[in-house]
Amino acid sequence: MTINFDQFRCTGGDFSLSDMPTEYDGGMKNDDLKDACREVWQEVDEWHERLYAEGKQSLLIVFQAMDAAGKDSSIGKLTSALSAHGCYVKAFKKPSKVELSHDFLWRVHQAAPRAGDIALFNRSHYEDVLVVKVHGWADEAIIDRRYNHINNFEGLLADRGTRVIKFMLNISKDYQLNRFKNRLENPEKHWKFNPGDLYEREHWSQYMSAFEAAIQRCASPEAPWYVVPAENRKFRDLMVASVIRDTLRDMNPEYPAPEFDPTKYTVDSIS
Ligand code: ATP
Ligand code: MG
Repeated sequence: MTINFDQFRCTGGDFSLSDMPTEYDGGMKNDDLKDACREVWQEVDEWHERLYAEGKQSLLIVFQAMDAAGKDSSIGKLTSALSAHGCYVKAFKKPSKVELSHDFLWRVHQAAPRAGDIALFNRSHYEDVLVVKVHGWADEAIIDRRYNHINNFEGLLADRGTRVIKFMLNISKDYQLNRFKNRLENPEKHWKFNPGDLYEREHWSQYMSAFEAAIQRCASPEAPWYVVPAENRKFRDLMVASVIRDTLRDMNPEYPAPEFDPTKYTVDSIS
């Protein structure tokens, strides 16, 4: 079965977050989703090796979501499917004093992947038009200019050979409540519960508006947003892996030509 993931893709302009599902299985059973995902991961890993060997292009994958939507687990699944070299995760927390004394993209640019690498961003420069907008920590005029700065920044990366994919893991408010309850009811998950997340939850509708604006203003064919129905974790993993696979296919990295003459060496000549 082929699933059309383009229905969850936004490349700019008209976009309404409330039209996007949070729950979806593509008409597939969990076991089939899991098997399909395993195959896609294998192909992603093969492309990743080519990307690394070629050393010319790179891939930046952004994960944004409300708390408990599964960013950590989604990123964890990917990192266990990919070989460690040339792939890293960068988590963006509240900016430090030093970071705040620079422009908002300063810390992000430093973490952008060099040629050959895949970088997975757990939160990103989008926090500066999400949490910052929701809490009014910057004027609307500044937020408005930030969308343009982000587009220019992502355009700069594209010019350098970096493809940018942005995933919003989309969940409902009820689903988040269940995840929080699960964390509270299970002592082994208490470490995952952060009372501060409840405060953010109170701003749910402002967050949805901020996500919608960010996706409308900062999506392009070169740096699209994908709004992943994230409540079914198997579907989520398959979709994330498939979008990355399709992007890598399109980038089509190639193994470099050897810098030596392979005909001059034989296996027997190596002692
Ligand atoms: P987890 O809770 O799964 O460990 P997390 O990403 O939620 O992961 P936390 O340390 O709980 O990590 O939260 C990081 C916090 O930093 C979030 O509330 C996020 O909104 C905030 N943050 C990230 N970037 C910025 C920014 N540029 N400005 C203000 N706050 C930010
Ligand atoms: Mg958190």
